[in-house]
Amino acid sequence: MVSNGSKWFQMVQRLFKMVQDCSRENLPGWSNVKLNVMSFLNDAIVSVVKIMPERLVWIFSKKYIAGRELSDALKVTAEFNAQGIKRTIDLLGEDLTRMENIDIYKKEYLNLIQATSKKALSNSFSVKPTMFGLLIDTSLCYRNVRDLVVAAASKGKFVRIDMEDSECTQKEIDLYKRLHFEFPDNVGIVLQSYMKRTLSDIADLSRLQPAGSVNIRICKGIYNEPPEIAYKKMEEINKNYLEALEMMFNSGIYAAIATHDKSLIEGAIRLIEKYKIGNERCEFQMLYGVTPELRKSIVEMGYNMRVYVPYGKDWFNYSTRRLKENPKMVSHIIKALFTNN
Ligand SMILES: Cc1cc2nc3c(=O)[nH]c(=O)nc-3n(C[C@H](O)[C@H](O)[C@H](O)COP(=O)(O)OP(=O)(O)OC[C@H]3O[C@@H](n4cnc5c(N)ncnc54)[C@H](O)[C@@H]3O)c2cc1C
Repeated sequence: MVSNGSKWFQMVQRLFKMVQDCSRENLPGWSNVKLNVMSFLNDAIVSVVKIMPERLVWIFSKKYIAGRELSDALKVTAEFNAQGIKRTIDLLGEDLTRMENIDIYKKEYLNLIQATSKKALSNSFSVKPTMFGLLIDTSLCYRNVRDLVVAAASKGKFVRIDMEDSECTQKEIDLYKRLHFEFPDNVGIVLQSYMKRTLSDIADLSRLQPAGSVNIRICKGIYNEPPEIAYKKMEEINKNYLEALEMMFNSGIYAAIATHDKSLIEGAIRLIEKYKIGNERCEFQMLYGVTPELRKSIVEMGYNMRVYVPYGKDWFNYSTRRLKENPKMVSHIIKALFTNN
């Protein structure tokens, strides 16, 4: 299997290089051919990755994941802190959680909160509510996430509720509102600019009190949503992203600007300058292992930067699930194979 896998990869590598070389030559009608080939490659790779041995998948996943253990997350966090970059640590887990897993995830997060506090690391935590039973029982989920927020708040730390697919959107906003009422300084939420409802969600959240305590990470969104509720074209998603950010600045909301898209980063910086937003009101955020040069250039400009560090034993399911949810990830992985190995 391993040798078949590597042969297969060599073939894909050659094909991908061909696509890149031809596209550089800008041949007429080429863009359609390129799209079809890329889409074929995406589908093929998703199917193959799912049956590949874990050790092989780890070769390209490790660039984006701190490791399997809590100690791996601590090590990466300390390295970034030394560069003046903050972190948000995410424990990887199954989204359709079985009840018996909830306690395991909770114990791990509580250990993580203790350990990062003991080591005086500057970090926050990102949490996926489906890991704590959001789709099974919202009250149970609230109680579990609240326990994490209580522990984090007692150490002066912050918990961000990640945004998942549209089945979760309203439930996660409601969870945020409930927790924000009790812990306005220690909890935040994520909104996705591909969702058509996002501007009205910002308007709604901007009414929460005390003024200035709302904290939103704005990102494009990673899940495959239907066109009735989500923008599909990149121009529309980007336009909505910058409109959302502008609305957040105008409403006094703390903005965590999560993107690796250079044009969006430039647009965000224009807005920061236009509204004279200081570092106490915003930060940039990027995923671990993605566009490190761009990240460095933002830090050098003097802006706050936070890196999202996922870790955990469930890295394999996470990697393959992300591929299934967003086949665009496949092209990132192929690019990583060429540029780093
Ligand atoms: C800190 C952070 C937290 C996030 N939290 C959530 C969340 O809670 N909910 C949610 O739905 N989505 C979340 N996302 C994912 C986000 O919605 C996008 O899917 C992802 O960031 C890619 O969009 P982009 O803005 O970087 O633009 P893109 O146009 O997709 O990417 C711009 C460039 O960045 C590089 N790139 C982007 N992503 C990757 C990657 N994964 N691997 C390798 N290279 C990559 C590529 O070079 C690409 O050309 C988060 C993203 C970040 C950075």
